[in-house]
Amino acid sequence: MTGLILENVEKFYGSACAVADVNLHLPPGKLVCFLGPSGCGKTTLLRMIAGLETLSGGEIRLDGEDIGQTPAHLRNFGMVFQSLALFPHMTVGENIAYPLKLRGVSKAEQQARVVELLELIQLQAMIDRPVAKLSGGQRQRVAIARAIASHPKILLLDEPLSALDAKLRESMQVEIRQLQQRLNITTIMVTHDQREAMTMADIVVVLGEHKVQQVGTPIEIYRCPANEFVADFIGSGNIFPATVLGDGKVGLPGGDALQVPICSSIVAGQKVKMLIRPEDLQLSAPQATAGNRLLGKVTFVRDIGATIETTVECSGVTFTALSTPCQGIGLGIGHPVSVTLPPEACRVLGA
Ligand code: ATP
Repeated sequence: MTGLILENVEKFYGSACAVADVNLHLPPGKLVCFLGPSGCGKTTLLRMIAGLETLSGGEIRLDGEDIGQTPAHLRNFGMVFQSLALFPHMTVGENIAYPLKLRGVSKAEQQARVVELLELIQLQAMIDRPVAKLSGGQRQRVAIARAIASHPKILLLDEPLSALDAKLRESMQVEIRQLQQRLNITTIMVTHDQREAMTMADIVVVLGEHKVQQVGTPIEIYRCPANEFVADFIGSGNIFPATVLGDGKVGLPGGDALQVPICSSIVAGQKVKMLIRPEDLQLSAPQATAGNRLLGKVTFVRDIGATIETTVECSGVTFTALSTPCQGIGLGIGHPVSVTLPPEACRVLGA
């Protein structure tokens, strides 16, 4: 099978588990993000793929070949670290040529490749400039050019943008994505920034508590989170307790019932957690309770300019609703309000 396959991969430091039971198939040419909170094992997993960390168990195969024991320098993977690890005393050109020099590539070929890569990253005029005299974004681009200089099979990026300010970070996200698509190079990027993962990746691998929690496209992960951990980590969500009543209904703590999609494995009487995204809640002038329209009371309003966040107490649950100013119905603290939870937007979360 083509692509990168991880089978039952695990890593222990002594008796402490860093990564457990990872099974993944990453198809070629995709940008994959390893996303998760600090300490969940993202970097360890990336370093095992790079060959910089040994496996405590499991297998890693690339295009059918077992590479689990192959030394890092024989894997031909490009890597960009958080620190970038550029050589400050070298020029831009020398930094990019460095991996080619190590491989014994002729001077003429090195020069040609450096020129080609500088054109790709739009830094042609800076070939002789010491990297110490570059801006953060320019250094970033040089680090990526160096990582792809020897035509690696896979590009591995470990939080490459975390040192940049928010604006530069956003423009580099677009640059990296465009470069990756132009080169069609399989890329794995570690990030703890869910917005970064959602906007850049073809496939998101959500890690939590040293395990893979879910693998999917950004929209699958957002709309259909596999469990409470993913629902809570990705985007903002209203996660609330409910009791399954049967007939496709759940009961809220305050006694109201909601019609929701329920799979057959969930039985009446079961306590579950539900998710509804803030943008899916509909607020309107108070009317009698009917169907999934309940009565509530506004407890807080936060106007952030482009959007308005309204907090509402409703049937024993605190919900946050997101609306735009033009949808606004002029709500203030203490106002009664009707809250509609469209059935298709309500999701019962797995354990
Ligand atoms: P962050 O986002 O903070 O970089 P991460 O998700 O990349 O975190 P890892 O760096 O992979 O997490 O670490 C996973 C776990 O393994 C953590 O509990 C960490 O303390 C532990 N760990 C990592 N490297 C070592 C090591 N060399 N020796 C012992 N424990 C380690």
